[in-house]
Amino acid sequence: MSLPSPTTLGLKKSFGFGDRLGLAGPGHLAALQRHGQGFAGIFAQQSIREMTRTRRSPEEVMLAAQNTLAGANYAPPWGADADHLKTTEDIDKTAAAGFTFFTLDPSPFVNNAADRLGLAELEAQIATLLQDGIFTAGWESEYLKSAHDVGPAAGAPLSFERAGLQRAAVKYGRAIHQVGLLAAHLAKTLKRPYEIEVSVDETDTPTRPLEHLFWALELRRRGVIERVVSLAPRFIGDFEKGVDYKGDLAEFEKQLRVHAAIAKECGPYKISVHSGSDKFSIYPIVGRVCGDRLHLKTAGTSYLEALRVVCRVDQTLFGQIAAYAATRFSEDKASYHISANETTVAAIAKTAPADYERVYLDEPVGRQLLHVTFGSTLTLGTTPSGRPFKDGIMEILQNNPGLHAEVLVKHLGRHLSLLNAG
Ligand SMILES: [Zn+2]
Repeated sequence: MSLPSPTTLGLKKSFGFGDRLGLAGPGHLAALQRHGQGFAGIFAQQSIREMTRTRRSPEEVMLAAQNTLAGANYAPPWGADADHLKTTEDIDKTAAAGFTFFTLDPSPFVNNAADRLGLAELEAQIATLLQDGIFTAGWESEYLKSAHDVGPAAGAPLSFERAGLQRAAVKYGRAIHQVGLLAAHLAKTLKRPYEIEVSVDETDTPTRPLEHLFWALELRRRGVIERVVSLAPRFIGDFEKGVDYKGDLAEFEKQLRVHAAIAKECGPYKISVHSGSDKFSIYPIVGRVCGDRLHLKTAGTSYLEALRVVCRVDQTLFGQIAAYAATRFSEDKASYHISANETTVAAIAKTAPADYERVYLDEPVGRQLLHVTFGSTLTLGTTPSGRPFKDGIMEILQNNPGLHAEVLVKHLGRHLSLLNAG
C-alpha cells in the first residue's frame, strides 16, 4: 500500500485535527466528510511541545495520518502542520518527516514589557534594535507617510503615530526578525512546496489591529509574505483550554473583522484560530467573518473524546486516570491558560462513577484537569498494578473503533457545522 502525501493548501479554508494518540484519524476524517463542507483537513498536526509531552516523533504523527487516509482511499488534498516551531532544529526534524505547513512561533522574542514603556525607554529600545540590525535607519518613514486603507471594517484607514509605531516595533521587532530567520532557513533547506503560518497567539496581551498591520507590512518588507498562508493573532477575550470562549462576542466580532480585512489587504492570507477547540459561541461569527480565509486548530479536545470512550468502556480505569490527573494538576497546569484551580479540582475528587462523564468530560473543571495533564497521563501514569495508562487507553480505543469515531464525529462535527452555519 503506497502512502498518501500531504500537500500545501494555499488559501483553502482548513481545519486542523490534532491527534495525540494516533487513533483519532477515522473519526476526524468522518467528521470532515459529514460536516466540513468546503474545509480541507490538516490531519497531521502536532506541536513540538506536544510531541515532547507525548514522546511521539514527527514520523509517527505523519504515519498515523497517512495510514488513516490510505485505508479510506482518501483522494482530496490534505495538509500536515508542524505546529509551534521555535528553532531551525524544529524545522529540520519536521521537514524530514514530510510536513508541508510550518507554523513559526516567535513568542520567546516578543517583548511583552513594551506595552508599559515610556517614550524615552521606547527611543532607547529602538536605538538598540537599530544597532542589532533588526531595523535599518529610516525604517519609520514608510509607516508614518500615509494611512493604510484596509476597507470599511476598520471604520477608517489605519494610521500609525510615532509612539504607537515604536511600541509595536519594540514589542514585535525581534519576533519578526526571528520569523525572517526561520523562513530563510526553510527557503534554503526545503526544495519542495511548503507554506508558512505565523503564530503570535501566545503573548500576554491581545494583538491590536495596528500591531497586526505592522506584522503584515514587516513580513512583506522582509520578503516572507509570499509563503505565508495564515497568521494567528491573539484575539481579545479568553481562549481557555477545553471550554467555550469567554468574552464579549460583539467586540470579538468587531476586532475579528479588522483582522480579517488586514489579512485580505496585506496578504492575502488566512486568519488562524489557535486553541480553537470547544469555542462554540464564536464559530458562527468566525465562519461568517472569515469566510474561506480561515484556518482553525484543534488538538486536546480529541484526547478528551478518547477519554470519553475509556469512561464508557472501563469506569475503573477512567477513575484511576482522573485521580492520577488530580495529583499532577499543580505541576502540569503551569504552561496553560485555564480557570480550574487546586480548589475546584479538589472539589470534584469524590465524584461517583455514574457522574464521571458529566463531571470530567462535559463540565469545565474536569475537562481542564484532564486536558492539561495529558502528557503525564500518557507517559508516566500507571494503574495500581503498574500498567501504563496509555496501554489501557490504546487497547480500549483499538477495541472500540466505532464508538471512538462516533464521539469524534459528534464533537468535531459540531465544530465544523457551526463554522459553516455562520
Ligand atoms: Zn497556538
